[in-house]
Amino acid sequence: MLTLQDLSPSTRVQAIERLTSPDLGRWLTQVQQVGRCTNPIRVVGSSETIDPATGVVLRSYSSASEPDGITYLRCGNRRRAVCESCSHQYQGDVYHVIMAGAAGGMKNVPADVADHPLVFATLTAPSFGPVHAAKKPGRRGTQRCRPRSGDGRKLCPHGRPTWCMAVHDHDDTLVGQPLCRECYDYLGHLVWQWYAPELWRRFTIALGRALARHLNLSETACRRLVRVQFAKVAEFQRRGVIHFHALIRLDGQPTETDPFPPPARTVSASELVDLVLQAAGDVSCEASPVDVHDVGRVLSFGRQLDARAVHGDADREAATGVELHPETVAAYVAKYATKAAADLADSQAGPNPHLARLKRLVRRTALRAGCAGLTGPDGPYKGWGRWADMLGFRGHFASKSRRYSTTLGRLRQARRDHVRARLNKLHGGEPVRVGDDADLAELEADSTLVVGSWRFAGIGWLTAGDAALAAASAARARDD
Ligand SMILES: [Zn+2]
Ligand SMILES: [Zn+2]
Ligand SMILES: [Zn+2]
Repeated sequence: MLTLQDLSPSTRVQAIERLTSPDLGRWLTQVQQVGRCTNPIRVVGSSETIDPATGVVLRSYSSASEPDGITYLRCGNRRRAVCESCSHQYQGDVYHVIMAGAAGGMKNVPADVADHPLVFATLTAPSFGPVHAAKKPGRRGTQRCRPRSGDGRKLCPHGRPTWCMAVHDHDDTLVGQPLCRECYDYLGHLVWQWYAPELWRRFTIALGRALARHLNLSETACRRLVRVQFAKVAEFQRRGVIHFHALIRLDGQPTETDPFPPPARTVSASELVDLVLQAAGDVSCEASPVDVHDVGRVLSFGRQLDARAVHGDADREAATGVELHPETVAAYVAKYATKAAADLADSQAGPNPHLARLKRLVRRTALRAGCAGLTGPDGPYKGWGRWADMLGFRGHFASKSRRYSTTLGRLRQARRDHVRARLNKLHGGEPVRVGDDADLAELEADSTLVVGSWRFAGIGWLTAGDAALAAASAARARDD
């Protein structure tokens, strides 16, 4: 709970000014409208809603009518560490997209998709060198990090032990750090991360082929009968490399009238598990050297592949002993959609030298690749340096095939419509849309036209006092 005493003197003065201002009510409404966003976007300008047939101005709205002459928009950031409110909204959206495709019966996805074979798979990166690990209790063998093996106390070429007898707690900052940073293949790690989206793409192709072989069909014939649909998220592991969690479902060939038909050939969920493992194990991709001094690499997924059948059906579950529910998987997947590399570092006490090294190396290697002419528009490392914060991962954190279920865009549109209706009621106005994730309207339905002129005015609440009040309001909303 915020008390004014907790604030610095100048912030306190700003907060009191706001609390005693005549337009406090309107300001609080704005806070609410952006969902108590931590870091809203400030815009100034105006727009008019016009009937194109007659040219009559139906409504007009201007930020001038708002407190301080500012209109606020949600930041739309999906990262929890940046904005709790917007990341929560994003996580909810991802959950609904994943859940609709896994269980059906919501968001225009029919209930019987729940009968299609569905598999939850985790595709990991290979090892780039031993790292400290926290092992779950109760799993086979020891909980020790890396017990000594047969060859006793072997040191690495840099004189560091190749073993670790500690039992690491999950919160231990050592977890994910290499045993020897000189032995660790940092460049291999970053190149793999850069190519991970391509590996995923090839995996989906390989799965289609494996399926055709399994059904004894040509690939073309197979696609007419059985289609692979998926939704996936990328999650950063502690060692700073992503892995993919994916829900993979089989459908038939979609048509205008039936976008989610069942597969026209029987493939059981456990057969699909085998095909997924086979395809993920087979797929590889040749990476370009980062410059003339570097070697080429053949990249593949790590050996720790995991695939399990998902069932929403209690009877079937009782018969097979499978315990993976669509709800569980959707919640799990959505949770990771709001985490990023930066959050990985933030969540740890103190600086993480391993992640810091990776980040530096992205920039440095981008320069190397740049000098070798590989970062140009057609180069294999185009724009690499821009992805330092993502430790070289340029893919989407959450993505899906077109027919998996509804889209994030459609959910956002529905919310925009809702916000628009509310705004129109409130002040007969029509604020702008900024970027993909801002949740305010752009064009009205076909019958009207919105003409606006808006200017970006900054990021964040106007004063530290305003930010403190918005944060207090967010805390109160969470507690309710
Ligand atoms: Zn926000
Ligand atoms: Zn260890
Ligand atoms: Zn070493």
